[in-house]
Amino acid sequence: MDSHLIYLDNNATTPCDPRVVDAMLPWFFENPGNAASRNHPFGWKAEEAVDYAREQVAKLINADSKEIIFTSGATESDNLALKGIYEMYSRKGNHIITVKTEHKAVLDSCNRIEKMGGEVTYLDVNREGLIDLQALENAIRPTTVLVAVMWANNETGVIQPMKEIGAICARHGVLFFSDATQAVGKIPVDPREVGVHLMAFTSHKMYGPKGVGALYVSRKNPRVKVTAQLDGGGHERGMRSGTLNVPAIVGFGKAAEIALHEMAQDTERLSRLRDKLESSLMQLEETYVNGNRAHRMPHVTNISFKHVEGEGLMMTFNQHIAVSSGSACTSASLEPSYVLIALGLGDDLAHSSIRFSLGRFTTEEDIDYTIESLSKGVNHMRDLSPIWEMYKEGVDLENVKWSEH
Ligand SMILES: *Cc1c(COP(=O)(O)O)cnc(C)c1O
Repeated sequence: MDSHLIYLDNNATTPCDPRVVDAMLPWFFENPGNAASRNHPFGWKAEEAVDYAREQVAKLINADSKEIIFTSGATESDNLALKGIYEMYSRKGNHIITVKTEHKAVLDSCNRIEKMGGEVTYLDVNREGLIDLQALENAIRPTTVLVAVMWANNETGVIQPMKEIGAICARHGVLFFSDATQAVGKIPVDPREVGVHLMAFTSHKMYGPKGVGALYVSRKNPRVKVTAQLDGGGHERGMRSGTLNVPAIVGFGKAAEIALHEMAQDTERLSRLRDKLESSLMQLEETYVNGNRAHRMPHVTNISFKHVEGEGLMMTFNQHIAVSSGSACTSASLEPSYVLIALGLGDDLAHSSIRFSLGRFTTEEDIDYTIESLSKGVNHMRDLSPIWEMYKEGVDLENVKWSEH
Protein backbone atom coordinates (compact mmCIF):
# COMPACT_ATOMS: atom_id res chain seq x y z
CA MET A 1 0.00 0.00 0.00
CA ASP A 2 1.24 3.45 -0.87
CA SER A 3 1.51 5.77 2.06
CA HIS A 4 1.31 8.88 -0.10
CA LEU A 5 -0.94 11.63 1.20
CA ILE A 6 -1.87 14.12 -1.44
CA TYR A 7 -3.68 17.36 -0.72
CA LEU A 8 -5.80 18.63 -3.61
CA ASP A 9 -8.39 20.47 -1.55
CA ASN A 10 -6.78 23.92 -1.47
CA ASN A 11 -10.10 25.65 -2.13
CA ALA A 12 -11.28 24.39 1.27
CA THR A 13 -8.16 25.70 3.00
CA THR A 14 -4.47 26.01 2.22
CA PRO A 15 -1.56 24.87 4.39
CA CYS A 16 0.04 27.77 6.25
CA ASP A 17 3.31 28.62 4.46
CA PRO A 18 6.29 27.94 6.80
CA ARG A 19 7.55 31.48 6.11
CA VAL A 20 4.22 32.75 7.46
CA VAL A 21 4.53 30.61 10.59
CA ASP A 22 8.02 32.05 11.21
CA ALA A 23 6.74 35.60 10.90
CA MET A 24 3.96 34.89 13.42
CA LEU A 25 5.99 33.23 16.17
CA PRO A 26 7.42 36.35 17.90
CA TRP A 27 3.89 37.71 18.36
CA PHE A 28 2.71 35.05 20.78
CA PHE A 29 5.17 35.36 23.69
CA GLU A 30 7.89 37.95 23.15
CA ASN A 31 5.47 40.63 21.95
CA PRO A 32 2.17 40.11 23.76
CA GLY A 33 0.75 43.62 23.41
CA ASN A 34 -2.79 44.66 22.61
CA ALA A 35 -2.69 46.87 19.50
CA ALA A 36 -5.24 49.18 21.12
CA SER A 37 -3.10 49.83 24.24
CA ARG A 38 -1.94 53.40 23.69
CA ASN A 39 0.10 53.98 26.85
CA HIS A 40 3.04 51.54 26.76
CA PRO A 41 5.60 50.11 24.34
CA PHE A 42 3.93 46.66 24.19
CA GLY A 43 0.84 48.25 22.70
CA TRP A 44 2.82 50.51 20.35
CA LYS A 45 4.80 47.56 19.00
CA ALA A 46 1.67 45.51 18.37
CA GLU A 47 0.02 48.48 16.68
CA GLU A 48 3.07 48.96 14.48
CA ALA A 49 2.98 45.28 13.47
CA VAL A 50 -0.73 45.52 12.61
CA ASP A 51 -0.13 48.70 10.58
CA TYR A 52 2.64 46.97 8.64
CA ALA A 53 0.43 43.93 7.93
CA ARG A 54 -2.39 46.24 6.85
CA GLU A 55 -0.01 47.81 4.31
CA GLN A 56 1.03 44.36 3.04
CA VAL A 57 -2.59 43.25 2.63
CA ALA A 58 -3.61 46.55 1.01
CA LYS A 59 -0.72 46.39 -1.44
CA LEU A 60 -1.80 42.95 -2.67
CA ILE A 61 -5.13 44.42 -3.85
CA ASN A 62 -3.79 47.87 -4.79
CA ALA A 63 -5.83 49.55 -2.06
CA ASP A 64 -5.10 52.14 0.62
CA SER A 65 -4.34 50.58 4.02
CA LYS A 66 -7.18 52.64 5.54
CA GLU A 67 -9.57 50.67 3.34
CA ILE A 68 -8.76 47.34 5.06
CA ILE A 69 -10.96 46.20 7.97
CA PHE A 70 -9.60 43.10 9.71
CA THR A 71 -12.21 40.45 10.61
CA SER A 72 -12.22 36.80 11.68
CA GLY A 73 -12.52 35.54 8.10
CA ALA A 74 -14.52 35.75 4.92
CA THR A 75 -17.73 34.53 6.56
CA GLU A 76 -17.67 37.52 8.89
CA SER A 77 -16.64 39.87 6.06
CA ASP A 78 -19.58 38.66 3.93
CA ASN A 79 -21.99 39.17 6.84
CA LEU A 80 -20.57 42.62 7.61
CA ALA A 81 -20.73 43.78 4.01
CA LEU A 82 -24.27 42.60 3.30
CA LYS A 83 -25.97 43.35 6.62
CA GLY A 84 -23.83 46.45 7.17
CA ILE A 85 -24.81 47.96 3.82
CA TYR A 86 -28.45 46.94 4.22
CA GLU A 87 -28.61 48.80 7.54
CA MET A 88 -26.47 51.80 6.54
CA TYR A 89 -28.33 52.51 3.29
CA SER A 90 -31.87 51.66 4.42
CA ARG A 91 -33.09 55.14 3.55
CA LYS A 92 -32.05 54.67 -0.07
CA GLY A 93 -33.68 51.26 -0.51
CA ASN A 94 -33.98 47.66 0.64
CA HIS A 95 -33.16 45.64 -2.48
CA ILE A 96 -30.05 43.51 -3.02
CA ILE A 97 -29.08 41.51 -6.12
CA THR A 98 -26.95 38.39 -5.83
CA VAL A 99 -26.38 35.08 -7.63
CA LYS A 100 -27.52 31.49 -6.97
CA THR A 101 -23.94 30.16 -7.00
CA GLU A 102 -22.63 32.40 -4.21
CA HIS A 103 -21.03 30.98 -1.07
CA LYS A 104 -23.42 30.10 1.78
CA ALA A 105 -22.06 33.01 3.84
CA VAL A 106 -23.52 35.35 1.21
CA LEU A 107 -26.73 33.41 0.51
CA ASP A 108 -27.57 32.90 4.19
CA SER A 109 -26.84 36.56 4.97
CA CYS A 110 -29.27 37.45 2.16
CA ASN A 111 -31.86 35.07 3.61
CA ARG A 112 -31.51 36.82 6.94
CA ILE A 113 -31.92 40.20 5.27
CA GLU A 114 -35.15 38.97 3.65
CA LYS A 115 -36.43 37.98 7.11
CA MET A 116 -35.58 41.51 8.31
CA GLY A 117 -37.79 42.96 5.55
CA GLY A 118 -35.32 43.29 2.69
CA GLU A 119 -35.86 42.13 -0.88
CA VAL A 120 -33.30 39.97 -2.66
CA THR A 121 -33.04 38.89 -6.30
CA TYR A 122 -31.06 35.69 -6.91
CA LEU A 123 -29.73 35.67 -10.47
CA ASP A 124 -29.35 32.47 -12.47
CA VAL A 125 -26.12 31.38 -14.16
CA ASN A 126 -25.75 29.66 -17.52
CA ARG A 127 -24.35 26.18 -18.13
CA GLU A 128 -20.84 27.69 -17.89
CA GLY A 129 -21.49 29.22 -14.48
CA LEU A 130 -21.54 32.81 -15.75
CA ILE A 131 -24.21 35.40 -15.03
CA ASP A 132 -26.15 37.16 -17.79
CA LEU A 133 -25.23 40.87 -17.74
CA GLN A 134 -28.54 41.92 -19.30
CA ALA A 135 -30.44 39.99 -16.61
CA LEU A 136 -28.38 41.81 -13.97
CA GLU A 137 -29.15 45.20 -15.47
CA ASN A 138 -32.86 44.35 -15.80
CA ALA A 139 -32.97 43.36 -12.12
CA ILE A 140 -31.81 46.78 -10.90
CA ARG A 141 -34.62 48.84 -9.34
CA PRO A 142 -34.72 52.37 -7.89
CA THR A 143 -34.53 50.71 -4.44
CA THR A 144 -31.46 48.58 -5.24
CA VAL A 145 -28.61 49.37 -2.84
CA LEU A 146 -26.17 46.55 -3.53
CA VAL A 147 -25.08 44.03 -6.14
CA ALA A 148 -23.16 41.06 -4.63
CA VAL A 149 -21.27 38.86 -7.09
CA MET A 150 -18.34 36.63 -6.14
CA TRP A 151 -15.07 37.09 -8.04
CA ALA A 152 -14.32 33.37 -8.50
CA ASN A 153 -16.45 30.40 -7.55
CA ASN A 154 -15.14 28.03 -4.88
CA GLU A 155 -16.50 24.86 -6.53
CA THR A 156 -15.80 25.46 -10.21
CA GLY A 157 -13.20 28.25 -10.19
CA VAL A 158 -15.31 30.20 -12.71
CA ILE A 159 -14.45 33.92 -12.78
CA GLN A 160 -17.34 36.36 -13.34
CA PRO A 161 -17.01 39.35 -15.72
CA MET A 162 -16.11 41.75 -12.92
CA LYS A 163 -15.33 44.80 -15.06
CA GLU A 164 -18.63 44.60 -16.94
CA ILE A 165 -20.58 44.14 -13.71
CA GLY A 166 -18.73 47.09 -12.18
CA ALA A 167 -19.66 49.26 -15.18
CA ILE A 168 -23.36 48.35 -14.83
CA CYS A 169 -23.31 49.18 -11.11
CA ALA A 170 -21.56 52.50 -11.77
CA ARG A 171 -24.09 53.42 -14.48
CA HIS A 172 -26.97 52.87 -12.04
CA GLY A 173 -25.30 54.30 -8.94
CA VAL A 174 -25.48 50.98 -7.08
CA LEU A 175 -22.77 49.70 -4.72
CA PHE A 176 -20.87 46.58 -5.80
CA PHE A 177 -19.70 43.97 -3.26
CA SER A 178 -17.62 40.93 -4.16
CA ASP A 179 -16.67 37.85 -2.16
CA ALA A 180 -13.17 37.51 -3.64
CA THR A 181 -11.99 34.82 -1.23
CA GLN A 182 -10.98 32.39 -3.96
CA ALA A 183 -9.30 34.99 -6.17
CA VAL A 184 -7.20 37.18 -3.85
CA GLY A 185 -3.58 36.05 -3.72
CA LYS A 186 -4.01 33.72 -6.72
CA ILE A 187 -4.80 36.09 -9.60
CA PRO A 188 -4.45 39.89 -9.84
CA VAL A 189 -7.36 41.47 -7.96
CA ASP A 190 -7.79 45.25 -7.95
CA PRO A 191 -11.22 46.33 -6.67
CA ARG A 192 -10.82 49.96 -7.71
CA GLU A 193 -9.92 49.01 -11.27
CA VAL A 194 -13.14 47.02 -11.77
CA GLY A 195 -15.45 49.23 -9.71
CA VAL A 196 -15.83 47.00 -6.64
CA HIS A 197 -16.66 49.04 -3.50
CA LEU A 198 -16.57 46.29 -0.87
CA MET A 199 -14.63 43.04 -1.04
CA ALA A 200 -14.32 40.06 1.31
CA PHE A 201 -11.32 37.74 1.51
CA THR A 202 -9.57 35.47 3.99
CA SER A 203 -6.06 34.51 5.03
CA HIS A 204 -6.42 30.71 5.18
CA LYS A 205 -7.18 30.37 1.46
CA MET A 206 -3.89 32.10 0.57
CA TYR A 207 -1.39 30.20 2.75
CA GLY A 208 -1.96 32.30 5.88
CA PRO A 209 -3.41 31.25 9.25
CA LYS A 210 -7.09 30.48 9.86
CA GLY A 211 -9.38 32.83 11.77
CA VAL A 212 -8.40 36.12 10.15
CA GLY A 213 -9.78 37.86 7.09
CA ALA A 214 -10.52 41.28 5.72
CA LEU A 215 -13.21 43.47 4.27
CA TYR A 216 -12.07 46.10 1.80
CA VAL A 217 -14.28 49.19 2.09
CA SER A 218 -13.76 51.95 -0.48
CA ARG A 219 -12.86 55.34 1.05
CA LYS A 220 -13.20 57.53 -1.99
CA ASN A 221 -15.39 57.76 -5.10
CA PRO A 222 -17.54 56.80 -3.26
CA ARG A 223 -16.73 56.79 0.44
CA VAL A 224 -18.62 53.73 1.68
CA LYS A 225 -19.71 52.99 5.23
CA VAL A 226 -21.13 49.85 6.80
CA THR A 227 -23.05 49.57 10.06
CA ALA A 228 -21.00 47.55 12.56
CA GLN A 229 -22.37 44.10 13.33
CA LEU A 230 -20.27 43.66 16.48
CA ASP A 231 -20.59 46.40 19.08
CA GLY A 232 -17.80 47.22 21.51
CA GLY A 233 -14.57 49.16 21.69
CA GLY A 234 -14.86 50.75 18.26
CA HIS A 235 -11.81 49.12 16.69
CA GLU A 236 -11.24 49.15 12.92
CA ARG A 237 -12.66 52.65 12.44
CA GLY A 238 -15.81 51.70 14.30
CA MET A 239 -16.80 49.03 11.79
CA ARG A 240 -15.55 45.97 13.67
CA SER A 241 -14.95 45.91 17.42
CA GLY A 242 -12.81 43.33 19.19
CA THR A 243 -9.15 43.01 20.20
CA LEU A 244 -7.09 42.41 17.09
CA ASN A 245 -5.56 38.96 16.63
CA VAL A 246 -2.02 40.29 16.24
CA PRO A 247 -0.14 37.03 15.42
CA ALA A 248 -2.74 36.05 12.81
CA ILE A 249 -2.79 39.53 11.27
CA VAL A 250 1.02 39.50 11.04
CA GLY A 251 0.78 36.10 9.31
CA PHE A 252 -1.93 37.35 6.96
CA GLY A 253 0.32 40.28 6.02
CA LYS A 254 3.26 37.99 5.34
CA ALA A 255 1.04 35.67 3.26
CA ALA A 256 -0.10 38.68 1.20
CA GLU A 257 3.50 39.77 0.61
CA ILE A 258 4.52 36.28 -0.55
CA ALA A 259 1.44 36.00 -2.78
CA LEU A 260 2.26 39.29 -4.48
CA HIS A 261 5.80 38.16 -5.26
CA GLU A 262 5.08 34.58 -6.23
CA MET A 263 1.65 34.81 -7.91
CA ALA A 264 2.94 34.78 -11.47
CA GLN A 265 5.21 31.78 -11.00
CA ASP A 266 2.62 29.83 -8.96
CA THR A 267 -0.01 30.50 -11.63
CA GLU A 268 2.21 29.32 -14.42
CA ARG A 269 3.24 26.13 -12.64
CA LEU A 270 -0.21 25.27 -11.29
CA SER A 271 -2.11 25.92 -14.51
CA ARG A 272 0.28 23.57 -16.29
CA LEU A 273 -0.26 20.85 -13.66
CA ARG A 274 -4.02 21.45 -13.66
CA ASP A 275 -4.15 21.16 -17.44
CA LYS A 276 -2.14 17.94 -17.31
CA LEU A 277 -4.51 16.47 -14.73
CA GLU A 278 -7.58 17.61 -16.62
CA SER A 279 -6.53 16.46 -20.08
CA SER A 280 -5.42 13.06 -18.74
CA LEU A 281 -8.69 12.47 -16.92
CA MET A 282 -10.69 13.70 -19.91
CA GLN A 283 -9.38 10.70 -21.81
CA LEU A 284 -11.78 8.58 -19.74
CA GLU A 285 -15.13 8.11 -21.45
CA GLU A 286 -18.13 10.28 -20.47
CA THR A 287 -16.10 12.77 -18.49
CA TYR A 288 -17.10 16.46 -18.38
CA VAL A 289 -15.48 19.61 -17.03
CA ASN A 290 -17.96 21.78 -15.13
CA GLY A 291 -17.90 25.53 -15.69
CA ASN A 292 -16.33 27.82 -18.26
CA ARG A 293 -12.79 26.70 -18.97
CA ALA A 294 -11.49 30.01 -20.33
CA HIS A 295 -12.70 32.22 -17.46
CA ARG A 296 -11.45 30.09 -14.63
CA MET A 297 -8.93 30.03 -11.79
CA PRO A 298 -5.62 28.46 -12.84
CA HIS A 299 -5.46 25.82 -10.10
CA VAL A 300 -8.98 24.37 -10.14
CA THR A 301 -10.86 21.78 -12.17
CA ASN A 302 -14.27 20.34 -11.40
CA ILE A 303 -14.94 17.14 -13.32
CA SER A 304 -17.99 14.86 -13.55
CA PHE A 305 -17.38 11.19 -14.26
CA LYS A 306 -20.77 10.10 -15.57
CA HIS A 307 -22.34 7.06 -13.87
CA VAL A 308 -19.68 7.08 -11.14
CA GLU A 309 -20.80 8.28 -7.73
CA GLY A 310 -18.27 10.84 -6.44
CA GLU A 311 -18.32 9.75 -2.80
CA GLY A 312 -17.84 6.14 -3.83
CA LEU A 313 -15.01 7.07 -6.13
CA MET A 314 -13.27 8.86 -3.27
CA MET A 315 -13.42 5.60 -1.27
CA THR A 316 -11.44 3.83 -3.98
CA PHE A 317 -8.35 5.86 -3.19
CA ASN A 318 -8.69 5.29 0.53
CA GLN A 319 -8.20 8.84 1.69
CA HIS A 320 -4.78 8.98 0.01
CA ILE A 321 -5.94 11.87 -2.08
CA ALA A 322 -7.84 14.72 -0.50
CA VAL A 323 -10.37 16.14 -2.94
CA SER A 324 -13.93 17.34 -2.58
CA SER A 325 -17.01 15.74 -4.12
CA GLY A 326 -20.07 17.52 -5.46
CA SER A 327 -22.25 15.80 -2.91
CA ALA A 328 -20.38 16.59 0.27
CA CYS A 329 -20.23 20.35 0.18
CA THR A 330 -23.04 21.08 2.58
CA SER A 331 -22.12 19.15 5.73
CA ALA A 332 -22.85 15.47 6.07
CA SER A 333 -25.89 15.51 3.82
CA LEU A 334 -25.59 13.87 0.47
CA GLU A 335 -27.46 16.64 -1.28
CA PRO A 336 -25.94 17.37 -4.66
CA SER A 337 -24.03 20.65 -4.87
CA TYR A 338 -26.43 23.61 -5.33
CA VAL A 339 -23.73 25.30 -7.39
CA LEU A 340 -23.63 22.49 -9.97
CA ILE A 341 -27.44 22.28 -9.96
CA ALA A 342 -27.52 26.03 -10.73
CA LEU A 343 -25.30 25.33 -13.75
CA GLY A 344 -28.05 23.00 -14.96
CA LEU A 345 -26.41 19.67 -14.19
CA GLY A 346 -28.76 16.82 -13.38
CA ASP A 347 -28.49 15.09 -10.00
CA ASP A 348 -26.50 12.27 -11.62
CA LEU A 349 -23.76 14.50 -13.02
CA ALA A 350 -23.67 16.66 -9.89
CA HIS A 351 -23.27 13.54 -7.72
CA SER A 352 -20.49 12.25 -9.95
CA SER A 353 -18.34 15.37 -9.70
CA ILE A 354 -14.97 15.82 -8.05
CA ARG A 355 -13.28 19.15 -7.39
CA PHE A 356 -9.50 19.16 -7.63
CA SER A 357 -7.89 22.32 -6.24
CA LEU A 358 -4.11 22.47 -6.50
CA GLY A 359 -1.87 24.69 -4.41
CA ARG A 360 1.61 26.08 -3.87
CA PHE A 361 2.81 22.79 -2.37
CA THR A 362 1.37 20.48 -5.04
CA THR A 363 4.08 18.59 -6.95
CA GLU A 364 4.22 16.99 -10.37
CA GLU A 365 4.46 13.57 -8.63
CA ASP A 366 1.21 14.33 -6.77
CA ILE A 367 -0.52 14.96 -10.09
CA ASP A 368 0.91 11.84 -11.77
CA TYR A 369 -0.19 9.69 -8.84
CA THR A 370 -3.65 11.29 -8.87
CA ILE A 371 -4.11 10.69 -12.59
CA GLU A 372 -3.23 7.03 -12.12
CA SER A 373 -5.41 6.48 -9.03
CA LEU A 374 -8.40 8.34 -10.41
CA SER A 375 -8.31 6.55 -13.73
CA LYS A 376 -8.11 3.19 -11.98
CA GLY A 377 -10.86 4.19 -9.57
CA VAL A 378 -13.24 5.32 -12.29
CA ASN A 379 -12.66 2.20 -14.36
CA HIS A 380 -13.10 0.01 -11.29
CA MET A 381 -16.38 1.67 -10.31
CA ARG A 382 -17.69 1.39 -13.84
CA ASP A 383 -16.72 -2.27 -14.09
CA LEU A 384 -18.88 -2.93 -11.02
CA SER A 385 -21.76 -0.73 -12.12
CA PRO A 386 -24.91 -2.20 -13.65
CA ILE A 387 -25.78 1.31 -14.85
CA TRP A 388 -22.53 1.59 -16.76
CA GLU A 389 -23.22 -1.83 -18.27
CA MET A 390 -26.69 -0.69 -19.36
CA TYR A 391 -25.17 2.47 -20.81
CA LYS A 392 -22.62 0.41 -22.77
CA GLU A 393 -25.44 -1.77 -24.06
CA GLY A 394 -27.14 1.34 -25.38
CA VAL A 395 -30.05 1.51 -22.90
CA ASP A 396 -31.64 4.98 -22.85
CA LEU A 397 -30.96 5.76 -19.18
CA GLU A 398 -32.85 9.05 -19.23
CA ASN A 399 -36.12 7.15 -19.65
CA VAL A 400 -35.60 4.26 -17.28
CA LYS A 401 -37.99 4.28 -14.31
CA TRP A 402 -36.00 3.86 -11.10
CA SER A 403 -37.72 2.56 -8.00
CA GLU A 404 -35.79 4.76 -5.49
CA HIS A 405 -36.77 8.45 -5.25
C1 LIG B 1 -13.90 29.70 2.24
C2 LIG B 1 -14.85 30.70 1.70
C3 LIG B 1 -15.56 31.55 2.57
C4 LIG B 1 -15.48 31.43 4.08
O1 LIG B 1 -14.24 31.89 4.54
P1 LIG B 1 -13.85 31.74 6.08
O2 LIG B 1 -12.62 32.58 6.26
O3 LIG B 1 -13.58 30.29 6.28
O4 LIG B 1 -14.98 32.22 6.90
C5 LIG B 1 -16.38 32.49 2.01
N1 LIG B 1 -16.51 32.61 0.68
C6 LIG B 1 -15.85 31.82 -0.17
C7 LIG B 1 -16.03 31.99 -1.65
C8 LIG B 1 -15.00 30.84 0.31
O5 LIG B 1 -14.37 30.04 -0.56
